[in-house]
Amino acid sequence: MKIAIIGAGIAGIAASIRMAVKGHDIDVFEANDYPGGKLSAFDQGGYRFDAGPSLFTMPQYVDELFRLAGKKPEDFFVYDTLDLVCNYFWDDSTRLHAWSDPQRFAQEVAATFGVPESQLLQILEEARFKYELTGKTFLEKNLYSWRTWLTREVGAALLKISKLDVFQTMNGVHERYFSEPKMVQLFNRFATYNGSNPYKAPGLLSMIPHFEHGIGAFYPKGGMVSITNSLYQLALSLGVRFHFSEPVTQIVVEQKKVRGIRTAAQGLLPFDRVISNMDVFFTYHKLLPELPRPHRILRQEKSTSALIFYWGIRRSFPELHLHNILFSNNYKEEFAQLQAGKVFDDPTVYINISSKCSPEDAPPGCENWFTMVNVPYNAGQDWDTIIVETRKRVLEKVSHNLGTDIEALLENESVLEPRSIEHKTSSHLGALYGTSSNNPFAAFLRHPNFSKQVQGLYFCGGSVHPGGGIPLALLSAKIVAELT
Ligand SMILES: Cc1cc2nc3c(=O)[nH]c(=O)nc-3n(C[C@H](O)[C@H](O)[C@H](O)COP(=O)(O)OP(=O)(O)OC[C@H]3O[C@@H](n4cnc5c(N)ncnc54)[C@H](O)[C@@H]3O)c2cc1C
Repeated sequence: MKIAIIGAGIAGIAASIRMAVKGHDIDVFEANDYPGGKLSAFDQGGYRFDAGPSLFTMPQYVDELFRLAGKKPEDFFVYDTLDLVCNYFWDDSTRLHAWSDPQRFAQEVAATFGVPESQLLQILEEARFKYELTGKTFLEKNLYSWRTWLTREVGAALLKISKLDVFQTMNGVHERYFSEPKMVQLFNRFATYNGSNPYKAPGLLSMIPHFEHGIGAFYPKGGMVSITNSLYQLALSLGVRFHFSEPVTQIVVEQKKVRGIRTAAQGLLPFDRVISNMDVFFTYHKLLPELPRPHRILRQEKSTSALIFYWGIRRSFPELHLHNILFSNNYKEEFAQLQAGKVFDDPTVYINISSKCSPEDAPPGCENWFTMVNVPYNAGQDWDTIIVETRKRVLEKVSHNLGTDIEALLENESVLEPRSIEHKTSSHLGALYGTSSNNPFAAFLRHPNFSKQVQGLYFCGGSVHPGGGIPLALLSAKIVAELT
């Protein structure tokens, strides 16, 4: 079959590889002049920055694509396992190293907070249990097929549903384990993995720590962008054709069947199948304006967005590692403000420094700081003012925690915010992860990976099932390949 893929985000590239391996003839059309969408990189005055994702989990879904193509992943894509996953900081000078190894992490937590080691090991065990019981079904399968529901895995999950905390919140689950508020806060932060609110998201999501402390956290050699680059090269080697700076303007449908696409440069191009990696909201609104829209699905609450300051810092900080989180003093209020479309005046700050693992990313003695705070999706807020105010607060917080005036160390700077995220990748309202997971039925309220109305039309990427983040975007491509 001749297949068109709209978008060379990580999910579009993964879909192109899977379809090419199946023997189809693939063209990928990308609006930007580079591959990867959110998963891209740029240089700034002698510093290199990964533009979007910074945390890499579930590398098996990348490796799988090389194996599928008959290649050894390690010949093309190499990554290190992190011993130290994250450094946590609180304004009262408390600091904690979160080791990947559960035992070592438990010892550190016991030494810092006096929390019994068994409590931490138990909550991580519960995370593993929840993931193993539900992950295969809810993340790897098309939820709209009766075959998915008639499996042993679903039977086992149903029998143990009371232990999955579907109708409890993540915060509720974490308070059940810890009386130490800082540990509750630390575990609550995993809701931000998919742009959700721990005080609303279902307790089932307390499986997320298992990704870091069970399966592991990783750092790709050459930075996050090497995920994009290596898969792009793999796709090329399989004969996939990429058309950059060529946005698709229409998906052509006749008698409820896909006939092809239209681009401004080439006009009508016939195809047997079309896979859209473009945000599903804009796929309907811009490329299928005449098709009735699945309003209930498209109106689901969006995930949070991000405000990022890319800072070249002319000094190095031994107390910082690759991933660092400086917590807000009032996490509940921070999420209440996000929910109300505002940015809290004491935001949690995440600092990613890839030069800790790839020294060539910054000049000698310097560091490349990707400094991010969670912000609401774009609902027309006064972002210019928010950026100025938040920058000031972030600088104050980081300076306080590190005992140094950070502003004096800034060598260069650029900013990414909800409006530019939408502009760069057509992500509706600048949401990072498509729809939020703030209700127990979120998994059923994402758009499926196929069109119920148009034969031959499929969807992959973070805005559709199973959701946002690199691993899930890669899995969406897997589900599409199984459907076609
Ligand atoms: C700042 C930030 C931090 C993040 N942190 C993490 C993290 O640490 N870990 C993690 O796992 N995930 C993270 N994510 C989420 C992750 O980046 C995304 O879930 C994932 O990259 C989505 O990939 P995608 O292929 O679905 O979409 P995208 O990367 O959005 O790609 C869609 C592509 O479609 C193209 N396109 C759109 N419209 C058209 C058109 N009409 N014609 C042609 N092309 C079109 C766009 O240009 C774009 O290249 C982060 C995201 C951001 C922005």
